[in-house]
Amino acid sequence: MENGKLDRGAGCLTVLAPAKINLTLEVFGKRDDGYHALRSLVVPVSIFDTLTLTPLDSGIEVTCELVGLPGENLPMLPEPRNNLATRAALLLKEATGYPGGARVHIRKEIPIGGGMGGGSADAAWTLRGLNSLWGTGLTVEALMELGARLGSDIPAMVYGKAVCMEGRGEKISPISCRWPAGTDWWIVVVNPGFNVPTGDVYRRFRSGLTSTEETYINARFALERGDGKLASASLLNSLEEPVFYKYPLLAILVERLKSAGAAGVLLSGSGASVFAMAANYDHALKIESQVKRDTGSWLWTRVAKIVPDGVMVAHGPLEARV
Ligand code: ATP
Repeated sequence: MENGKLDRGAGCLTVLAPAKINLTLEVFGKRDDGYHALRSLVVPVSIFDTLTLTPLDSGIEVTCELVGLPGENLPMLPEPRNNLATRAALLLKEATGYPGGARVHIRKEIPIGGGMGGGSADAAWTLRGLNSLWGTGLTVEALMELGARLGSDIPAMVYGKAVCMEGRGEKISPISCRWPAGTDWWIVVVNPGFNVPTGDVYRRFRSGLTSTEETYINARFALERGDGKLASASLLNSLEEPVFYKYPLLAILVERLKSAGAAGVLLSGSGASVFAMAANYDHALKIESQVKRDTGSWLWTRVAKIVPDGVMVAHGPLEARV
């Protein structure tokens, strides 16, 4: 393709953008720039938004379709021009000088405002997907830098695999993640159907004095060794206290998941989703059915697992490029 002229033979790209959970999230207090310093082990999980990217001669068009999301009072998605996918596409266009455009259709299955990074995943995989579709050739590192301009979680989501995220989210170190013997890293995610505004949680956060170093080291070791028991015992989220104070239902959901047999349960990011680690797939199904039985069928639940990366599937002549 030359100078943005649409290659009529060019295909479209389907991208599976995974949600994330934070196995640990330590918040260390405010930095001079107003952001909180943090350290977090972030892993992608098999709850996906599906992005369909189609080349256009010009302009960026973003559309969204919500699929089986929790609750009736979900926060409305912003108007298309403020959607993080639109902002990511425009940023890539500006950074590379690419003259053409694209349509991005998002089939949303990641709970909105659920602490699972749905908006960040859409932005991250719009950057990666359009970089392939447009043939703009930026490295993953360059895309991570662009992503950092849009949001703290986005560099980790652009990288796509298990990472340790530090600073305000911009320092990313890959973590080797081994799968537990004979099974996967299965989890059960529950969501109460309301969203927790991240900014409000950080405003109400007060740093504790207890050291979390040992728990972090254990969680990292557990992930590297594929040790599910140690991982369950080493989950950590500094935001649980301010979130549970304001939304006590979430603390009840944690207890329900524990009563259903989960050894490790944690608030995901700033909530409102909560996840439980399971020993295997059958254990995950058992936890899911019991928590639904005990709490009611209104509760949104998903059995999912840690996945190695997002997925891009090209349709048509693009295949050679992805
Ligand atoms: P964070 O922890 O980064 O705040 P989250 O996982 O709790 O994220 P998201 O689903 O990413 O929540 O949504 C946060 C807000 O981002 C939403 O209220 C919405 O207004 C805005 N947003 C912009 N683009 C998107 C998108 N593509 N998908 C979801 N939310 C989006």
